[in-house]
Amino acid sequence: MSTSGKTHILVFPYPAQGHMLPILDLTHQLALHGLSITILVTPKNLPNLTPLLHTHPSSIQTVVLPFPPHPKIPSGVENIKDIGNHGNLYVINALANLQAPIVHWFSSHPNPPVALISDFFLGWTLHLAHQLGIPRITFYSSGAFLASVFHYCWRNLDKMRSSSGIVHFPDLPRSPSFKQDQVPSVVRCHKESDPESELLRNSMLANTESWGCVFNSSEDLEAEYFAHLRAKMGHSRVYAVGPLSLTAAEAADDSSLGRANPNKDSDANVMTWLDGCPDGSVLYVCFGSQKLPNRQQMEALASGLERSRVRFVWAVKTGSAQQVKDGYGVLPDGFEERVGGRGLVIKGWAPQVLILGHKAVGGFVSHCGWNSVLEAIVAGVLILGWPMEADQFVNAKLLAEDMGVAVKVCEGDNAVPDPAELGKVISESMTGETPEKVRAKELRDKAFAAVGSGGSSSKHLDELVKELGQLKAGRK
Ligand code: UDP
Repeated sequence: MSTSGKTHILVFPYPAQGHMLPILDLTHQLALHGLSITILVTPKNLPNLTPLLHTHPSSIQTVVLPFPPHPKIPSGVENIKDIGNHGNLYVINALANLQAPIVHWFSSHPNPPVALISDFFLGWTLHLAHQLGIPRITFYSSGAFLASVFHYCWRNLDKMRSSSGIVHFPDLPRSPSFKQDQVPSVVRCHKESDPESELLRNSMLANTESWGCVFNSSEDLEAEYFAHLRAKMGHSRVYAVGPLSLTAAEAADDSSLGRANPNKDSDANVMTWLDGCPDGSVLYVCFGSQKLPNRQQMEALASGLERSRVRFVWAVKTGSAQQVKDGYGVLPDGFEERVGGRGLVIKGWAPQVLILGHKAVGGFVSHCGWNSVLEAIVAGVLILGWPMEADQFVNAKLLAEDMGVAVKVCEGDNAVPDPAELGKVISESMTGETPEKVRAKELRDKAFAAVGSGGSSSKHLDELVKELGQLKAGRK
C-alpha cells in the first residue's frame, strides 16, 4: 500500500512502440481502477509517458534510470525504433543490467510496490522480483497463441531444429505446424554458445513461470489458447484484458495516451479523401512501423493494386538513404500518376487507427503485427494478410485458419506475390460481403462487448485489480 492507501505497483515497459503503447494503456486502466503505479523508464523514453502522466498526475509516478551502455548499441539509442528489430537481443541484455539500480530504488522507497508488471521481453525480471520478494506478472503485448508457441519452442529447442522443414506443435490446441522459417526468429536465432542469447532464452522461459500473465487479447479471440496456458501454468492468473487500444479510446481522448500523430495536416487530407469514397470501398495497405518491402515486392504490390481497380490508401515508409538506393520502400516510376484519384500514397507515418476506423475502409493488406491485427478487429475490417517475420505467421494462422476472419495474400519476408493473382484476390475480397468480412464484423462486435461493462476483458481486469489489491509487500 502507498501512503494514500492505494495498492502500489511497478510497471516496466519494453522500449519498442508495439510493446509500450499497450502496457501504457493497461497502466491507464489500473490507475482508473484506483491503483498507484510507478513506471520504470530510461531517460529517452520518458517523453512517451507525458500524456499518461498528465492524465493521472497523482496516481502515476516514474522512476527514471540511465540506460546501461552496451557495445552493440550506439550511444543515445534507448528504443528499438532507433536501432531496428535486430537490436532486441542487445536492448534486452542491456536492460538486464538495471537489476542492481532497481533493487537500490526499491529498498530505499518508503512504500515500495507490492508487485511488478513487466513486458514479456523482460522475463529476467522474474529473478529481480524474487529478490525484491514481490510477485512478477508478465505483460504480453501479443496473444495467447504466440505465448503458447513460445512456451513449447523454448522447452523443445532440439525438436525445432531436427524436424524436416516443418515444426509440429503436438502439445497445442489444434496441433498446429509451421514451416521452419516461420517459427518466430527470436527462437530460430538462438545460440547456446552465446551468453546474451542464453539470457534471452532464460528470460522467455521465466514468462510462464511468473506469478501471473496479462494479455492484450480477449477470450473471444483465443479461448482455447488461454485454457492451454492456464493448464501449463497450473493456475488461473492468466488475464485477457484487450483490446487495450479500445479501452484507451473509450476511457479518454485517443491522442491523450501517446498515439498522437505529429502530421495533423496530412491526417486531415487522408480523412477528407476517404470522406469522398463509398463505404467499405477502400483498401488500406501498411506493413507496420518497421518493415520496408524490397524493390520486387513494391513492384508486385503496385502492379496488383493497379490491376485490382480497387480504391486504396498505401502507407509507404521512407527508408534511409541506403535503403532507398537499394530499392526498399521505393514506388515504381509513374505509379502515383497512373493511380491518381483512385489511390492515395502516404509517405511516412499514417494515422492507421483513424484510417481503419473510417467507414470507407473495408480491407487491410497487413503484415499481421499484433497491434495492427487488433486495430483491424476493432474496426471490423477484413485483413488480407502477408506475414513476413517474427510473430506474424502465428498471428496470420490464428486469423485465417482458426477464425476465418482473414485471407492470406502472400507469405514470407522475401516472397514476391504474382501481381495478377494479387490483383484478383484484392478485387474479389473487396467486392460484396464475403464470409470473412461477415466474421470480421462479428469479431468487432465481440471485441466491443468484451471491454464493455460485464464483458470478459473488463471482468478479467477487475479480477486482476482485485488480486493485486490483496497483495502485501514481501509476498512472493
Ligand atoms: N502504425 C501507424 N502508422 C504507420 C505504421 C504503423 O499508426 O504508418 C502503428 C499501427 O497503428 C500499430 C503499430 O504502428 O499500432 C504497428 O504495430 P504492429 O504490432 O502492427 O507492427 P510492428 O510495427 O510491431 O511490426
